[in-house]
Amino acid sequence: MDHIAVIGSGTMGNGIAHVFALQGFPVNLIDVSGPALEKGIKTITGNLDRQVNKNQVTPEQKDATLGRIRTFTSTEEGVAGARLVVEAATENTDLKLSIFRGLDGFCAPDAILATNTSSISITRIAAATKRPAQVIGMHFMNPVPVMKLVEVIRGYSTSDETARYVMDLSRRLEKVPVEVNDYPGFVANRILMPMINEAVYTLYESVAGVYEIDTVMKLGMAHPMGPLQLADFIGLDVCLAILRVLHEGLGNPKYAPCPLLVNMVQAGHLGAKSGIGFYQWKKDSKDLQVAPRFARVP
Ligand code: NAD
Repeated sequence: MDHIAVIGSGTMGNGIAHVFALQGFPVNLIDVSGPALEKGIKTITGNLDRQVNKNQVTPEQKDATLGRIRTFTSTEEGVAGARLVVEAATENTDLKLSIFRGLDGFCAPDAILATNTSSISITRIAAATKRPAQVIGMHFMNPVPVMKLVEVIRGYSTSDETARYVMDLSRRLEKVPVEVNDYPGFVANRILMPMINEAVYTLYESVAGVYEIDTVMKLGMAHPMGPLQLADFIGLDVCLAILRVLHEGLGNPKYAPCPLLVNMVQAGHLGAKSGIGFYQWKKDSKDLQVAPRFARVP
């Protein structure tokens, strides 16, 4: 089994480590923060317990999965011997460029370097290394153990061999990989974010309220969650940052973020993670309430 290194033990990194280890791959999970590694392992354990309770995983598989994950605070030590590195550190261009410059020096010459970035150019990240043919996007969806899609993004110089390896590997994780090219937002966010932005404009222009907009999309279009609820779930700051990448990278005014979205982010109303966005998010409550300022139908 190829050795896998995962950089970043946050929301995505621990999920990526989980799915590789569950399928039998030895995984080195790396984070600059010791507490983040502890939290990552705790999350993986909790998510495996949930899978055991649902009879998706046996208790023996759970123990074996945890036994395949080793944690490291040193990237150099953690990536030694890895065939594939999946980087899932914080979404920051300078940080990712410096991580990839380092990886190029630390990793075996034939190692493949993948990034889980949601919005940063794969081509730009690849150009920070001397092996751009072996750099690729491997965009998992949140929550990783549940969501089937992997958006596999080919940078300008990514080789066929690298793409084939990552496509095959994704299938071995029981995921469905889809190959796309490297342009702003790739496919997932290029289509999703303008829809979310349009939903915010629909609210901003008082065409309808939060409940009405989300209900139209849920019951009318068979979406499991309305676009405003999904935006709250993703984080309004994340949505705004991706819209700015689309606006700047594609140069089309249709991607300009709605002023209401900008205001909400400036006010710190970021959605689920801050407790308030288009909805009021209460811990352990299934009863989702529209945020007080949007409670009235316009
Ligand atoms: P997060 O903030 O939950 O976790 C990031 C982790 O990276 C933190 O634990 C941090 O300590 C660690 N880190 C920072 N610098 C590091 C370094 N130099 N070396 C090692 N570890 C480092 O972030 P996240 O939500 O898991 O996002 C990670 C990546 O996945 C981002 O590129 C993001 O765009 C992408 N992504 C996120 C989602 C999502 O829904 N959260 C979905 C798809 C893709």
